[in-house]
Amino acid sequence: MELHELTIAAAGRLLRRREISAVELARAHLGRIEALDPGIGAFLTVTAEEALAAAAAADRRIAAGDAGPLTGIPLAVKDVLCTRGVRTTCGSRILEHFVPPYDATAVRRLRQAGAVILGKLNLDEFAMGSSTENSAFQVTRNPWDPSRTPGGSSGGSAAAVAARLCLGALGSDTGGSIRQPASHCGVVGVKPTYGRVSRYGLVAFASSLDQVGPFGRTVEDAALQLAAIAGRDPADSTSADAPVPDFAAALGRGVRGLRIGIPAEYRAAEGLDPEVGRAVEEAVATLERLGATAVPVSLPHTRYAVAVYYVIAPAEASSNLARYDGVKYGLREPGGGELLAMYKRTRGRGFGPEVRRRIVIGTYCLSAGYYDAYYGKASQVRSLIVRDFEEAFRHCDAIACPTAPTPAFRIGEKAGDPLTLYLADIFTIPANLAGIPAVSVPCAFSAAGLPIGLQLLGKAFDEETILRLAHALEGERGLFRRRPC
Ligand code: GLN
Repeated sequence: MELHELTIAAAGRLLRRREISAVELARAHLGRIEALDPGIGAFLTVTAEEALAAAAAADRRIAAGDAGPLTGIPLAVKDVLCTRGVRTTCGSRILEHFVPPYDATAVRRLRQAGAVILGKLNLDEFAMGSSTENSAFQVTRNPWDPSRTPGGSSGGSAAAVAARLCLGALGSDTGGSIRQPASHCGVVGVKPTYGRVSRYGLVAFASSLDQVGPFGRTVEDAALQLAAIAGRDPADSTSADAPVPDFAAALGRGVRGLRIGIPAEYRAAEGLDPEVGRAVEEAVATLERLGATAVPVSLPHTRYAVAVYYVIAPAEASSNLARYDGVKYGLREPGGGELLAMYKRTRGRGFGPEVRRRIVIGTYCLSAGYYDAYYGKASQVRSLIVRDFEEAFRHCDAIACPTAPTPAFRIGEKAGDPLTLYLADIFTIPANLAGIPAVSVPCAFSAAGLPIGLQLLGKAFDEETILRLAHALEGERGLFRRRPC
């Protein structure tokens, strides 16, 4: 078998038996990035030298008998996570030359586990978008069909894993940015429970919604990465002190007796491609054959979720992005001696159109006289959405629905139509608003050969149940064996 076809789990076993070396594995992937990434555009920065040094260190660690499941495994990181000494752009001109002096906690934990970081992955600017077309630097193409987007905002992460440029990757998910690109690229993506993974060093978009999470080609690979990055971090006061289970060990427990909630409202969702609807129904039927039971549930307030999110997320973003003022970080455009002119030019030229749109919307929603009508109201409706899930989870152990209403769309197809793009976040946004975990797992391919993802949502801090279900489905379908040509 070729090295880039290995899963993290399999590569880890071969490394620990010393049948392959970490240096050899890193070289194989760096070679693929060089050969294939010009056609995909997943990487913004490749850190070949650092990767080879980390791989050599991993080989020494393995020789010393001190290896864990990620030691020597080549991974890559969305360019919204700070990497010490390596530029972190957030896909934005305003941070084009920003070199953080520290690692994000998730990155630091991967390094401590012995992972080999190959580089930084493309994204929509400041993670705002669903197609990776909002990057200031490059378009990322979907490995299954290069005329299509990989989804977003973690499109570089999903495309890199699908194209076998790395064995796994980290992304961030504020309203679907891990799950939706995972669905479009035929890989597994996990949005952990809010607080499960430290946000320290994750450049903030909407702080009450943001979570860091993994991409893998299999559920086990995602679980191994999640276990490495999860857990309390004193540097992030919102990180939870909950015990971190052995996620990968939970996978083998099967799904017998688990109740899968099917939300009535999601079936009739507007814009749902019938092919996706059928794929999800078949996936649930498969899980039922394996011993799970489908039960009807109701999430009556999720029809407001998109509206609520597109008030709360821009409001928090407008506040978080105030720090890019030409003084503290990154780009500064001279203002001819005028402070205000310097601010205006820096922010006008440094931010792209989507980020500017969000700042304008968010600032408006937070302004005196409108705060109660927009931000206050959205926060109230958010509580109703949280309660919907609490009620639903009294009747089921997980909820199944599509990840995205359609398979991957064409590059440019929706670029001029932000509202259509926002509406397509309908299935992913509720989990962020409620802070619950969710996974996207490949469940079918469309007639056109495009991957379709099933989304499973779980109770807070119960990633294990949704990962078990995803793993069971994956085992039945075997779709992870398919690869883009
Ligand atoms: N598509 C959503 C947005 O544009 C979600 C982005 C994300 O999760 N970072 O805001």
